[in-house]
Amino acid sequence: MKELEDRIQRDGTVRAGDVLKVDNFLNHQCDVELFDKMGAEWARLFAGKRVDKILTIEASGIGIACVAARHFGNVPVVFAKKYQSINLDGDQYVTNIYSFTKQKNYSVIVAKKFLTAGEHVIIIDDFLAKGNALNGLIEICEAAGAVVEGIGIAVEKGFQDGGEKLRARGYDLQSLAIVKSMDPETGKITFA
Ligand code: 5GP
Repeated sequence: MKELEDRIQRDGTVRAGDVLKVDNFLNHQCDVELFDKMGAEWARLFAGKRVDKILTIEASGIGIACVAARHFGNVPVVFAKKYQSINLDGDQYVTNIYSFTKQKNYSVIVAKKFLTAGEHVIIIDDFLAKGNALNGLIEICEAAGAVVEGIGIAVEKGFQDGGEKLRARGYDLQSLAIVKSMDPETGKITFA
């Protein structure tokens, strides 16, 4: 998606450790108009698929998934929670994920009542690096008996292996921008 690539070029900064910072429009301040165009693009890429629900993970996934849902017939958005809370009641799906940016394990939780057998789901998230977050969400879908129709990612770092592994497993993975390389010294970013 050219507009997303241009925005990354304009506002993205490359950090050491293969981290791309895009908090100006995606991870802290949110450009809702851009989110809307991203949602329209995923709807085009996943056209013809049955989508009952969108699954994402807090925090940055929520905004893009909610705006995207407007392009999928206003289906509900369920986000996996990263923290236990007294507000979480009933049976839950729980899985462990290793965080690329925080460099530690954390559990993610989805209440069983919000993901049920036979539901067709699209998973949406902001970034794809090594695929740990997506693997956790896929595991939760498998435990629920939900069908993963596709995966929509805003920014895939193509030089890390998450995307390649998921495509090899047969998932319909649609990333709107795929970063081929980025250099923390010069700030140069290239796209696939
Ligand atoms: P993975 O689980 O695929 O290794 O990493 C994906 C998750 O880590 C995303 O949900 C995102 O929150 C975070 N992440 C990974 N790489 C980056 C990055 O370069 N920039 C930002 N902002 N987040 C990232």
